Amino acid sequence: MSQEALSNLLRENRRFAPPADLAAQANVKESAYAEAADDRLGFWSRQAERLDWATPWTQVLDWSNAPFAKWFVGGELNIAYNCVDRHVEAGNGGRVAFHWEGEPGDTRTITYTELKDEVCKAANALTELGVTKGDRVAIYMPMIPETAVAMLACARIGATHSVVFGGFSVSALRSRIEDAQAKLVITADGGYRRGAPSALKPTVDQAVTDTVENVLVVRRTGQDVEWTDRDLWWHDVVDRQSAEHTAQPHEAEHPLFILYTSGTTGKPKGILHTTGGYLTQVAYTHWAVFDLKPETDVYWCTADVGWVTGHSYLVYGPLANGATSVMYEGTPDTPHKGRWWEIIEKYRVTVLYTAPTAIRTCMKWGDAIPAEFDLSSLRVLGSVGEPINPEAYVWYRERIGGGRIPVVDTWWQTETGAMMISPLPGVTHGKPGAAMRPLPGISADVVDGEANPVPDGSGGFLVLTEPWPSMARTIWGNPDRFVETYWSRWPGLYFAGDGAKKDEDGDLWMLGRVDDVMLVSGHNISTTEVESALVGHPRVAEAAVVGANDPVTGKAIAAFVIVRGEGEVDVEELRAHVGQTLGPIAKPKQVLIVPELPKTRSGKIVRRILQDIAEGREIGDATTLADAGVMDSIKKALDI
Ligand code: ATP
Ligand code: MG
Repeated sequence: MSQEALSNLLRENRRFAPPADLAAQANVKESAYAEAADDRLGFWSRQAERLDWATPWTQVLDWSNAPFAKWFVGGELNIAYNCVDRHVEAGNGGRVAFHWEGEPGDTRTITYTELKDEVCKAANALTELGVTKGDRVAIYMPMIPETAVAMLACARIGATHSVVFGGFSVSALRSRIEDAQAKLVITADGGYRRGAPSALKPTVDQAVTDTVENVLVVRRTGQDVEWTDRDLWWHDVVDRQSAEHTAQPHEAEHPLFILYTSGTTGKPKGILHTTGGYLTQVAYTHWAVFDLKPETDVYWCTADVGWVTGHSYLVYGPLANGATSVMYEGTPDTPHKGRWWEIIEKYRVTVLYTAPTAIRTCMKWGDAIPAEFDLSSLRVLGSVGEPINPEAYVWYRERIGGGRIPVVDTWWQTETGAMMISPLPGVTHGKPGAAMRPLPGISADVVDGEANPVPDGSGGFLVLTEPWPSMARTIWGNPDRFVETYWSRWPGLYFAGDGAKKDEDGDLWMLGRVDDVMLVSGHNISTTEVESALVGHPRVAEAAVVGANDPVTGKAIAAFVIVRGEGEVDVEELRAHVGQTLGPIAKPKQVLIVPELPKTRSGKIVRRILQDIAEGREIGDATTLADAGVMDSIKKALDI
């Protein structure tokens, strides 16, 4: 990273102190960092005690076969029991687990007692279908309560689930069914998206392979479906089961789920997570980072369940903590662009967890929309998925948070299983655009090419220096690729693929992927910086920047821009704006105005596809895009 670019980011010097009332009542205090640093394993051992174990562990961490970790060795527990039954046994069965909101406006309220009955029935149904401990089950569902029930039922009987995002194509679904050799697929006729039923079952029909014995189908939309001998309706098989089911404990290292990475940078990797360490860290971080008060908070994570955020912070973390959550089926602009804010007003949501892409989209729609709703119930705002630009952070804080409440920017990955680097809302000063510091019990650093920690005020590679409970255990079926991909660059260090910077206070700023740093005329410029500069212009809603090969400059910066507001935009003015903000070297050579950007299901821009466009190539693998139609509208706008 060039010095001039670094000093530019460092010029972002707005600071927001934690609100006094929140700080006074906060779940976690500053002292947690020192306690965890003094005795990291003792710290995680205490966090594991938030859970109910059938058999206590004898060893906190076995790292003798690094990088294949074993946490809480000898311990046994049941995840579904921890997420559901124990809250009922503690007298909280009447508490709402999910306020579910269907896109067409239908709703369901599910208490912990009701959730327990449903999970037990589904577990009995899976057993009747011959699914046993260790089998794999693929889940290809819309955002409906049965999706969480299906995941928990699998966890209860020890079947390993592989959730596949409901927007994925036949080939993406088939390759995941094949890779896991799934015995059962759980799906629905369809779900509601953008005001209309969107079919799922036909995709499953084409994707099933020989290992699949049955397809269990939830009726959600009532649309016509083709039927074969393999297919069973959920309501026929699950509803008639007994609501009694005794949860057997599973070993701490029993495989809980396989989940594929988003595929932003290439072929998705099937990440394996296990039981005890995973639940420990998701429960702890959900409680600490959102300052969760389960009796009074109404928590809403907008992530799709097909993404790791949906696993850890829509299903497992909140339920382990006995939280009340909102689950919403549809898109944020159906039937109107204020739908999210209406949901917050309706359920008095206190904690909102979403992604920068969604925040920027709402910015583009205009301040007037959220202003129509009462958002005063909110007390913590979270962000995840990509670096949040300072402008988006400040908009989120001001327009959604009323300027009163903290924003926590949480850095983590499918591979880390749970949050790793984030502010704590009652402790940390907020800096727009900074993820700040590793959470208590987590050890991270920024290093140079020789693995030496960089001094404050410099950038480098983000590494994790000690194992953590919710770490990936392997890549499913491919342990060599696990070692090669994450652990081979420097001995003993996990390298995440992301760049980061330490500011003068030693706080961490995420700079996106190291592959996204462009070498332009001998200067390193990160795509994130140029994007942030563009989004800082009042007419730019979203920007994606790539380095296109250029015979003269090495890389030439190409910017794809979505415009905000009415009327023509002067492309020269945008180029000049970047030049003024970051220096002339960072001025994009091309600025292309587009209606949409190609994104993964988690909202990340797939830059390699834009690079194909900028370099005039055939467009590469687009199977992990959340919406395949986007490429057509971009091509149309650019006339290619
Ligand atoms: P693939 O690994 O297949 O290319 P992916 O990395 O996009 O896909 P995920 O595991 O969903 O798959 O995303 C993790 C990545 O998201 C991180 O490595 C980082 O680049 C980015 N990210 C997540 N949260 C943040 C954040 N708060 N700030 C900056 N970047 C973030
Ligand atoms: Mg990744």
